[in-house]
Amino acid sequence: MSDKYLYSPWRLDYILSEKPGDCILCRYQDLGSDEENLIVWRGKTCYAMLNRYPYNNGHIMLVPYQHLKNLSDLPPETLAELGVLAQKSEQALHNAYRCEGINIGLNLGKAAGAGVDEHLHVHVVPRWSGDNNFMSVVNGERVIPEDFRTSFVRLREEFQKLMGKGE
Ligand SMILES: [Zn+2]
Repeated sequence: MSDKYLYSPWRLDYILSEKPGDCILCRYQDLGSDEENLIVWRGKTCYAMLNRYPYNNGHIMLVPYQHLKNLSDLPPETLAELGVLAQKSEQALHNAYRCEGINIGLNLGKAAGAGVDEHLHVHVVPRWSGDNNFMSVVNGERVIPEDFRTSFVRLREEFQKLMGKGE
């Protein structure tokens, strides 16, 4: 974690906001290096991170820094940046993986299948015809992921290209 994030105004908002210590997404964004945490891009209000429990190689999660639960809780700026990151993720996944399709979605609430239901995040999952569909994945089948290090390097490069050099 570099110092510049500690002094960004949005980050102060985040630090002052109440957050439970056991939220895994809050921990990833705060503790350890982006490399360890598989964070491929940091924006002003949200970041893009590889999912450690991917449905497919290149499975990205887009996460607001703020610990918020509902789509309707998000400030407009965050919502807008989340949209931009979804767009860039689409391009990055096409470039890096030549995927044939992409699922983008939110699981809001435990009943909807959210693993972390207190901290909203958007799943962006590259798809190929003939890969496992969501149901077979949900039922416990998984494709074998390429190692995270490889995915991380590939996608971080793509994001840097798409977004310019970064913050
Ligand atoms: Zn959180």
